[in-house]
Amino acid sequence: MAESTTVSNTANLLKYMQLDQKGKVLAEYIWIDGSNGVRSKTKTLDKAVKSADELSEWNFDGSSCGQAPGDNSDVYLRPVAIFPDPFRGGENILVMCETWDHDGSPNKFNYRHEAARLMDAHAQHEPWFGLEQEYTLFGPDGWPYGWPKNGFPAPQGPYYCGVGTNKVYCRDVVEAHYKACLYAGIKISGINAEVMPSQWEFQVGPCEGIELGDHLWMARFLLKRVAEEFGIVITIDPKPIKGDWNGTGLHTNVSTKEMREDGGMKAIEAMMSKLEKRNTEHIEVYGEGNRDRMTGEHETANIDRFTWGVANRGASVRVPRQCAAAGKGYFEDRRPASNADPYQITGIMMETVSDPASL
Ligand code: ADP
Ligand code: MN
Ligand code: MN
Ligand code: MN
Ligand code: MN
Repeated sequence: MAESTTVSNTANLLKYMQLDQKGKVLAEYIWIDGSNGVRSKTKTLDKAVKSADELSEWNFDGSSCGQAPGDNSDVYLRPVAIFPDPFRGGENILVMCETWDHDGSPNKFNYRHEAARLMDAHAQHEPWFGLEQEYTLFGPDGWPYGWPKNGFPAPQGPYYCGVGTNKVYCRDVVEAHYKACLYAGIKISGINAEVMPSQWEFQVGPCEGIELGDHLWMARFLLKRVAEEFGIVITIDPKPIKGDWNGTGLHTNVSTKEMREDGGMKAIEAMMSKLEKRNTEHIEVYGEGNRDRMTGEHETANIDRFTWGVANRGASVRVPRQCAAAGKGYFEDRRPASNADPYQITGIMMETVSDPASL
């Protein structure tokens, strides 16, 4: 593992983690900050809870998280979903929160609120989402973990789904994260090593509606939190290394009830023309710095032009071969960058699915 004085001393910590909590329960309140990161703080509860509505609102100093001015810094945390806590175990929980301003309006970085409204408004479509979160692991020196100091590994080729020394890096962090997700009840559907060494992917889904954003953000939290114990830095920058190295995406698989039914290809094709008309609007919420990634190379499309095709990984949207053959199923929007917000992605999808003006 990386040499770092900041790696936590897990062996010593274990002694204390086993101590009796004397009936108290710890709730880790987690929220999204002003720079697309996660923050968290802990509250002691007198008893265990079964759902988010049993938890009280809380607040934090928004000026320290880039989400409120210093002279009016209180931002409120509203619990929306709870998960078993894989770090503390027992009845301790992780709490996903929305952020709200003092005047009763959603915080500027609370994209969940609007997404949840869109999910409710169009619930009859029963939308399912499955997102493929790609990310890169850096050592504490800010260079991809396992890469030669100030240098580069052998060119891409052997690393995707790689096995063996010099073909795959950081499997320990990745396995630990997978187990932590399963313990927390995240609907994680798989993992794989990616094309660039020290780049990996996990998939979340299918989840219905707003659940996807909750589970994906919680999986991001777990990843950063697990990596902390290994002295590894996680980045979701869409193009962490310039040049002939793959960028990082957040492929978004989508289906509605109409698409999953027999003859659903018709609904998929109708969606393709709606997406074509709103390429700019979608790209706007598909992540910062996505232009560096969507070059038309490395299995990406041109960022300014919407294209789709069956089994085509160079198109904006791919319809999987087995769906085209079955005449129903789902489609994969390959445009979102790894740092995009899943609430914004799934929200705009619902807007576009149900936008008669774009027909
Ligand atoms: P790829 O071949 O692009 O690497 P993955 O296997 O990594 O695909 O991811 C496929 C994703 O699609 C998974 O997250 C899965 O949950 C999701 N998925 C499968 N069926 C559907 C569906 N009907 N609607 C929405 N998402 C789906
Ligand atoms: Mn204080
Ligand atoms: Mn994948
Ligand atoms: Mn991938
Ligand atoms: Mn994919």
